[in-house]
Amino acid sequence: MSEQEIPSPKCQACGKQFETHRQLHAHLKAHNLRVVEYYQKYFPRYDLHDGKIIKYKTLEQYFSTDFNSRTNLRLWLKSVDKEEAKEFCAKLLTKRKKEKNLKYPPPPVELRTILSPPIQYLDENFDDYYKACREIGFEDKYQLPSEIVEGKEYQKPQYSIHIDTREQLPLKFNNYTTEMKTLPVGDYTFSEPKLTCNCYIERKSLADFISTLSVKNLDRFEREIIKAQELKINLIVLIEDTLNHATSFKYLPHISKKIKATPEYIFHNTRQLIQKYPHIQFLFVGGRKEAERVIKKILFSGCFYKQIDLQYAYDTKVL
Ligand SMILES: [Zn+2]
Repeated sequence: MSEQEIPSPKCQACGKQFETHRQLHAHLKAHNLRVVEYYQKYFPRYDLHDGKIIKYKTLEQYFSTDFNSRTNLRLWLKSVDKEEAKEFCAKLLTKRKKEKNLKYPPPPVELRTILSPPIQYLDENFDDYYKACREIGFEDKYQLPSEIVEGKEYQKPQYSIHIDTREQLPLKFNNYTTEMKTLPVGDYTFSEPKLTCNCYIERKSLADFISTLSVKNLDRFEREIIKAQELKINLIVLIEDTLNHATSFKYLPHISKKIKATPEYIFHNTRQLIQKYPHIQFLFVGGRKEAERVIKKILFSGCFYKQIDLQYAYDTKVL
């Protein structure tokens, strides 16, 4: 990785030294230079794959990235030998850990919303993603997803799935018994909390998810997460749409018309919550039928969900 330190705020056109980059950027007007032009002219950086100049978005981004797109990153990784690819990925993770002060390995939701290869690639490349993360210094949180077995005892007639009375569009679970109850958080839980390590699931449409993670609702959502923590609840936020749709919602007119926030902003908030609160998980699934199936599978397989990254399990069809 052609890592480069952010240069000090000294004007390369006239040599004048500034205290901050902000001051330098304001000064550039004197040279009739836009910030983008200034950095591309005096500190040119090139995409490792196609050699085109790196697009300037922010100072941090410009000096930290080696690619203009995930596609170019993917193509470059394909073109180099395994050891070089491995070294690049290890550096990428090390750098992210340091810069973002991360405690746990970046989950799939994080890797798929930053300029990084997806977890499946890393797992193959490193032989074991979580082991490589341990070596880099991340704290363990999950193990690689393996077979999820539903327990027969969950089918006993005394048990049911509790659905919150405020749930607007309750999911159906075939012939399985459900009961409407007022839940402290979330929308779905198992009637016997001990059998699921207190697992609660909050269902959201994609539009709900985006709205919840946007600036005006974020505090309220965080209070709910804290409430779950105080009640020793493990909260799963289940979005009944795919992660691909979620990361590109700007191109979905029925959603983008109503929402001003960008996917970058929404997923920045999502990533922060995942790193901050180990008792929550976000899981994107392909539609309501899938949401029904997945909720049952999670609730009927005990506490297994706590040991695995649910998105990873879903994407690899283990869940
Ligand atoms: Zn100057």
